[in-house]
Amino acid sequence: GYRSRAAYKLKQLDNLENVISGGNTVVDLGAAPGGWLQVAAEKVGPPGSVIGVDLQRIKDLEDATLDERVETLRGDMTEDKTRERVIDAAGGPVDAVVSDMAPNMSGEYSLDQARSLYLARQAFETALELLDTGGNFVVKVFEGPDVDDFRADIEDEFQYVRATSPKASREESSEIYFIAKGRLTAPVRPGD
Ligand code: SAM
Repeated sequence: GYRSRAAYKLKQLDNLENVISGGNTVVDLGAAPGGWLQVAAEKVGPPGSVIGVDLQRIKDLEDATLDERVETLRGDMTEDKTRERVIDAAGGPVDAVVSDMAPNMSGEYSLDQARSLYLARQAFETALELLDTGGNFVVKVFEGPDVDDFRADIEDEFQYVRATSPKASREESSEIYFIAKGRLTAPVRPGD
């Protein structure tokens, strides 16, 4: 079984827009407890690999065949040093970056929304450092005032961007996912 209901969201997103293909290298941000990791490891198949990152420790996958394709890192994606560790682990450009990161809920929507957008922008910056030309990016963000600007920034870098709210997340109706397909340029590393 899957570790989280979130697993079904990645399945729905991938069914819509084929984000992950066999043999891909995928980076999964905010990966704990590991539902998306399970789905991504299935989709990349034996020649592929998945790197999962979270503030929380992620337990090894129960299925050893899937776990062989997965590497996990514990760290804060808002810190440069974590981003550097992810880039080192990837060892080169990757095919997809997916982020389901979400803040701890304060209950005050405007604060939670701002934190969500900050995490989503961190994921976008990471994607720009990691994604190969033609690569795909998926990111969760809570609906709010600055989300249109964020979408426009993503659109500048990809062939197209689609917004969707997977059925599996309808009870948290404020969350949307941007699916960005086909990165237009190659990775840019700071200092290059
Ligand atoms: N996709 C996951 C799955 O399928 O199991 C569920 C992810 S859960 C909705 C959001 C995750 O984002 C949490 O595990 C949280 O620890 C993580 N997160 C929040 N802020 C983060 C940060 N700054 N760096 C890394 N992970 C973060």
